[in-house]
Amino acid sequence: MRLAVFGAGGKAGSAIVPVLEQAGHDVRGLELGDEPDVAGLDAAIDFTTPDAAPGNVRAALEQGVSCVVGTTGWDPALLGELARERKLRLFVAPNFSIGAVLMMRFARETAAYLPRAEIVELHNEAKKDAPSGTAKATAALIGGDVAIHSVRLPGLVAHQEVIFGGEGQVLTIRHDTTGRESFAYGVLLALEKLPQLPPGLTVGLDAIL
Ligand code: NAP
Repeated sequence: MRLAVFGAGGKAGSAIVPVLEQAGHDVRGLELGDEPDVAGLDAAIDFTTPDAAPGNVRAALEQGVSCVVGTTGWDPALLGELARERKLRLFVAPNFSIGAVLMMRFARETAAYLPRAEIVELHNEAKKDAPSGTAKATAALIGGDVAIHSVRLPGLVAHQEVIFGGEGQVLTIRHDTTGRESFAYGVLLALEKLPQLPPGLTVGLDAIL
């Protein structure tokens, strides 16, 4: 596919672009200050900022280009409407790590049989917020009173254990993120599924896994 990547030089973008190119895609990297010229491309990808993403996505949709967006902290509902009107796709996922999304799905399924759970989330000390968004979302999927324990230490990247305790048994579901290239494989999956999605907004990798 011929793709544009808004934020190609950022931490996520620079990990994603080489994986897209290795997969055979032709990538046009767009940075802050570049004209959002994407006319004629097959899709636009955005990993920028909550301020920049809505303008980039609007510009792409207005040029007839469907979008795959990883930028968090903005509301894509209105632009979903624009995409639907134009028969284009707007796919937005707060987490493009396939393993992390499967961890959450398996945790939700497990909770039906082993309802007592606690979460340990471990991140690099650079992450200031705690608990993590993924841990809070996992706890909400499990339901009930789920304690979350947060660890912040050098050497860690992003890890989460969901521990289910039952009579005479313990089940642990663990996911480890070891590099940002993990997000690229979720983006590749979204690009593959894009033509099969209904026009308008689709949210979350769970919807296409
Ligand atoms: P980052 O390193 O700050 O990268 C953002 C990049 O976007 C920078 O290169 C920035 O350029 C560029 N940019 C800013 N405004 C732009 C514009 N108008 N047009 C084109 N490029 C623009 O941040 P990051 O860690 O890569 O994260 C980027 C976003 O993705 C954040 O919202 C983050 O939460 C999200 N994210 C989501 C996932 C997921 O799985 N969904 C995974 C990772 C990150 P300058 O440096 O010149 O300003």
